[in-house]
Amino acid sequence: MLRAGIVGLPNVGKSTLFNAVVANAKAEAANFPFCTIEPNVGVVSVPDERLEVLAKISSAKQIVPARVEFVDIAGLVQGASKGEGLGNQFLSNIRETDAIVHVVRCFEDDDVIHVSGSVGPARDIEVINLELVLADLAQVERRMERTKKQARANKDAQYEMTVLEKVAAELNEGKSVRQIKLSEEEAEIIKPLTLLSAKKIIYAANVSEDDLSTGNEFVEQVREIANKEDAQVVIVSAQVESELVELSDEERKDFLESLGVEEGGLKSLIRATYDLLGLRTYFTSGEKETRAWTIKAGMSAPQAAGVIHSDFEKGFIRAETVSYEDLVASGSLSSAKEKGLVRAEGKAYVVKEGDVMLFLTN
Ligand code: GDP
Repeated sequence: MLRAGIVGLPNVGKSTLFNAVVANAKAEAANFPFCTIEPNVGVVSVPDERLEVLAKISSAKQIVPARVEFVDIAGLVQGASKGEGLGNQFLSNIRETDAIVHVVRCFEDDDVIHVSGSVGPARDIEVINLELVLADLAQVERRMERTKKQARANKDAQYEMTVLEKVAAELNEGKSVRQIKLSEEEAEIIKPLTLLSAKKIIYAANVSEDDLSTGNEFVEQVREIANKEDAQVVIVSAQVESELVELSDEERKDFLESLGVEEGGLKSLIRATYDLLGLRTYFTSGEKETRAWTIKAGMSAPQAAGVIHSDFEKGFIRAETVSYEDLVASGSLSSAKEKGLVRAEGKAYVVKEGDVMLFLTN
C-alpha cells in the first residue's frame, strides 16, 4: 500500500492532523478486519465519487475504496541530519515512505509556541528541506568513498562516480534531488540510494478555520516556494479536521457551511497524495461489493489482476472491460454489453483510469 510520511517542524499541527486521520481510520476499521494498524500509521480511504455511482448500478452491498497510509514522522528538527532529536531514526522512517506531506504552519496563535519565535513558512520549509538535503549529502558522500575505490579498475564505477559528484555538487548548493535535472540513466544510478529529497512532496498549509475558505498571506509564501519546485499545495485546517471527527453528519454539514467550505482539507490532501504518485484506479463491481483497486500507470491487465490476488495474474485469461463513462451512460452492464461497449481485453492490454473490470482466470 502507498505510504505517505507527514513531516514538519514541531508545533505546526502534525499530530492534530494525524489524529484526525487515525480517527477516520478507526471509524472505518470495521471494513478492514485483517488490517493491523501500527501506532504511528493511519489508513485512510481515498475519496472517489464514482464508487457510489457504480454501487448503485450493480446494487452492491458494500463499497470498498482505495486506501493510503499516513505515517506520523515526529522529531524532525533543526540538526536532525546530525543526529539531533530523534535524528537517524526519523530519517529512516522517511526513507520507507513513497511521498512526503510537509505540514507548514500558516496559522497565528500566541498560545501555540513557534520553535523559531514567529510564523514564517518560507523559513520553516527551508529548515526542513535543508535537513533532508544534508542527510542526502552525507549518504552520497559515503557512497562516493566506496565507489572511488572501485572506480580505479571499473568503467561502470567511474560513470557512477561522475553522477554522484554531480548530485553532491547540487546538494552542496542546498538543492533538493527532485530539483536536479538528471537523465534516465543518471536517475537509475542514484535510485538505490533512496534519497530523501528525491521524494515527491505536497505542502499542507495548515490554516486556522477562518482562513480555510480564503487562504492567507502565509499560504501565498508556501505557494511561491512550491511553484519553484513543481510541488503542490493543499490548504488544510488540522483543527477543523480534529473537530469534525467529533460531530454527527448533520452537525458536520452545518459547521463546514458556516466556514464556507465543503471539507476541512484532509480529503483534498488524500486525493492529492494519491495523484502525486501517478496512481490509477480501476474498479470491480458486482452485487457483493464495488471496489476501487490501486495500480501504477502503465500496468497491464494481468498485473492489475495481480493486485487482487497473485493467482489472478498467473491464471489470467482475459478481462471483460468497460470504461466508467460508458457503463454509467448505459445504465447497466447488460445494456453496455448490448451496445458493444464491453471489450474482451487480453494480456497486453494496458489498464486505463476508471476501467471497470471482470477477470476470467483459471
Ligand atoms: P505538532 O508538534 O506539529 O504535532 O503539532 P500539534 O498537532 O501538537 O499542534 C501544536 C498545537 O497547535 C496544538 O496545541 C494544536 O491544538 C495547535 N494547532 C494545530 N493546528 C492548529 C490550527 O489550525 N489553529 C490553531 N489556532 N491551533 C492549531
